[in-house]
Amino acid sequence: MTITITNIKRIGSDQTESVTIENGTIKGWNLPAEGETIDGQGGTVAPAFTELHAHLREPGQTEKEDLSSGLAAAAAGGYGTVVSMPNTSPVVDDPAIVRSLIQKAQGLGFARLRPAAALTRGQQGEALAELTYLKEAGAAMFTDDGRTNENARTLRLGLETAASLGMVVSVHAEDASLRADGVMNEGAVSEALGLPGNPAAAEAARVARDIEIVAGLHAQGRPARLHIQHLSTARALDLVREAKKRGLSVTCEVCPHHLTLTDEALRSFDAIYKVAPPLRTQADAEHLLEGLRDGSVDCLATDHAPHTRAEKERDLLEAPSGIAYIELAFPLMYTRFGESLGLERIIELMTTAPARVMGWPEPSLEAGAPADLVVLDLETERTVEPATFRSKAKFTPWAGESLKGWPLLTVVDGKVAYRRV
Ligand SMILES: [Zn+2]
Repeated sequence: MTITITNIKRIGSDQTESVTIENGTIKGWNLPAEGETIDGQGGTVAPAFTELHAHLREPGQTEKEDLSSGLAAAAAGGYGTVVSMPNTSPVVDDPAIVRSLIQKAQGLGFARLRPAAALTRGQQGEALAELTYLKEAGAAMFTDDGRTNENARTLRLGLETAASLGMVVSVHAEDASLRADGVMNEGAVSEALGLPGNPAAAEAARVARDIEIVAGLHAQGRPARLHIQHLSTARALDLVREAKKRGLSVTCEVCPHHLTLTDEALRSFDAIYKVAPPLRTQADAEHLLEGLRDGSVDCLATDHAPHTRAEKERDLLEAPSGIAYIELAFPLMYTRFGESLGLERIIELMTTAPARVMGWPEPSLEAGAPADLVVLDLETERTVEPATFRSKAKFTPWAGESLKGWPLLTVVDGKVAYRRV
């Protein structure tokens, strides 16, 4: 199959070019048009984005999301590859489930699925899952996300075993006993509202513990690759910075919701803003932004976490945690931070940076590279209309906002996975 995309620009260039894609590979630039021709409408082309953290809810929770809706939403958001979280029902701790998810996703024609598998059996945090077989089945990483790894000894063993397989362990870093029943960030706002708070120390204490586990292994020449998910506090980021200076293999991701929303949003008492770890303070958000700038934050991830509307309409104490917005992650980042971070850095944080965390080949638009790309309209402002989402979660904190940077076309494996043009 051959496609030629015309009328596109590469980042930092004003020149209008065309790219030809053949059999899943970029054949070359500015060749005579061949096959199907798609007008890129003057959009800017980049490698398709990589999402290291999304909840696609299959198997077992398909009223919230499923592979088809979640991967279609991802493609509409410009993503070519999505790592799905294993806290489903049943938990993805069985090689047969990993295989069936990959097989099913391949037939859908949206974003590519790279499922994460559970680190421990049933995500119970005690016995390790069969990591070797899970890797053989195609698991991308190991994580008990959705739960916290309370048993430090098990986590250490998991880090060692995963490293022997060349795999990353990613962690939801919150101390469960310190978090307790906190439903929002602990601070002036939680106090004013009379809601149970989740202290920043719950995250920082857990990040510190996990870094020390990695440091202990490294000191003995035993490798370990720890990735901290959805890092939300200034203090935890400082700990990661220090770990990097010590030469430890510790990486972290930050979510756009922690950069663009704060605990002030909870004054609405709307559970749409309930997320774990919680929305923090403006000072935290600014510190995280600085981390994106200076490289101490490795990559962006959305933690796309859809729930049914009925679940999110419960009161703050009862509603589940999670915000779903994979379709608007890039427009949100570009509109809010296009000037302060720059287009190139934002795209790097969503393409090359997550690939580096995983040790995957770096995305490229050069001839011979896999044809995974997105064409972005950086000019036209459009209102966020959740009713049009491909995700089953047709609500979002940014509904009604005017954003620019919307994907026009997403190509995955040389095939059109999404198009607005
Ligand atoms: Zn999590």
